[in-house]
Amino acid sequence: MNIPQITIPRVVIIGGGFAGIQLAKKLAKQEVQVVMLDKHNYHTFQPLLYQVSTGGLEPDSIAYPIRKILSRFPNFYFRLANVTRIDPEAKKLETNIGPLKYDYLVLATGSKTNFFGNKEIELNSMIMKTVPEALNLRSLILQNFEKALLTDSLDEQDALMNFVIVGGGPTGVELAGALAEIKKGILPKDYPDLDTRRAQINIVQSSDRVLDGMSEVASRKAEEFLEKMGVNIWKDTLVTGYDGDIVSTNSELTFRTATMIWAAGVEGALIDGLKTSECLLPGNRLKVNEFLQVSHYKNIFAIGDIACMTSEDYPRGHPMVAQVAMQQGRNLGDNLLKILENKTDLKPFVYKDKGTMATIGRNKAVVDLPSWKFQGFFAWFVWMFVHLLSLIGFRNRAIVFVNWVYNYIRFDRAARLIIRPYKKETRSKDVKVVAK
Ligand SMILES: Cc1cc2nc3c(=O)[nH]c(=O)nc-3n(C[C@H](O)[C@H](O)[C@H](O)COP(=O)(O)OP(=O)(O)OC[C@H]3O[C@@H](n4cnc5c(N)ncnc54)[C@H](O)[C@@H]3O)c2cc1C
Repeated sequence: MNIPQITIPRVVIIGGGFAGIQLAKKLAKQEVQVVMLDKHNYHTFQPLLYQVSTGGLEPDSIAYPIRKILSRFPNFYFRLANVTRIDPEAKKLETNIGPLKYDYLVLATGSKTNFFGNKEIELNSMIMKTVPEALNLRSLILQNFEKALLTDSLDEQDALMNFVIVGGGPTGVELAGALAEIKKGILPKDYPDLDTRRAQINIVQSSDRVLDGMSEVASRKAEEFLEKMGVNIWKDTLVTGYDGDIVSTNSELTFRTATMIWAAGVEGALIDGLKTSECLLPGNRLKVNEFLQVSHYKNIFAIGDIACMTSEDYPRGHPMVAQVAMQQGRNLGDNLLKILENKTDLKPFVYKDKGTMATIGRNKAVVDLPSWKFQGFFAWFVWMFVHLLSLIGFRNRAIVFVNWVYNYIRFDRAARLIIRPYKKETRSKDVKVVAK
């Protein structure tokens, strides 16, 4: 990998997401060599991916080059690499660009979409965890409308204009709200010769309320907003299959659609090599202690979505959200510096929950703070402010701000471009089972 072999310890961080970046910043300028490996050369601000999928933002406004964040630190090395295996005995990693030794290893690999073993759904549904996936979805949505124009069959048109979102968490709700706004404000202008009133947006949720990780009042208000915007919400319903045309559920309910979006769950993005019988918890997350050290491994740590630290307050681990990842990154940074100096007064990780929020659309959001819950315009304003500030880089903040102001004033989403047409085979190549 062409990284100098020097006498100071080497900390290898796998993943330049929310957790990895915070950790690297803490270790910068210290007496330690920091090597970050990531399969992308950019950090992705996942909370705004849905705006890329729906043409509200260009992808480069929510992605930021990892080298640019950390290049000013002399002890920092970045390599674009996919880590394929960990050899804990030899303290070595295998990657697609060669092996790398470490003294301390930090797994900050985040999570990946969980299909709960359903290969048919994995093969046929759309997902939205990365920028390329968000762009695939953007292309497919627009391609569907272009195709709908070309058919005389109303059934065919309906299938092309019918969107089924599986999962009523923040991603599903935000995506449904954005699609409803497109249906109302953009489709009639872009496709005057198509009856776009027939377009349907459906959320299928397995539990009895959307946003079930938030307060009941937030769920109730979000459902009210969505229903007013014309979104159909199907609760207590499990999607059991999708053959690329028909979505089946555990009841008699079925949908015909060209687009099913799977936003129903994630699992840890694990790398082979660790003795998982000793450190793996449900959801493919690595069991860590209060110092974020992976069970049974002295010099391996895990932070962010991949890590699961159980406690009395969080018996199933912390929520898989950006705040936890960032706070864990900072906490581990402080502790690693102490470990490197042979100090023993490590600080256990304690999550400071600053609240959760989700936006449904223009002037509509729900916010649960620890001591105050509110919804509507002010919540929407707070949501925008928090997301804008959380973006990395002045350029990205400025571009997103200008885009939001433009979209707000013009009721528009100017990035509705099919730059790279979506072909279904591209995402399905790793899936072995062929759809029925
Ligand atoms: C659509 C969507 C919306 C979300 N909305 C919100 C929200 O509104 N608020 C909120 O708090 N949270 C939200 N989240 C969750 C939040 O994004 C995650 O909790 C957060 O990204 C976790 O940070 P992380 O550092 O653990 O992982 P990530 O930020 O996912 O970073 C992991 C990094 O590891 C890299 N990587 C993984 N495996 C390998 C490998 N084998 N080799 C090399 N590199 C690898 C990846 O390329 C990636 O860059 C959302 C997530 C999604 C998908």
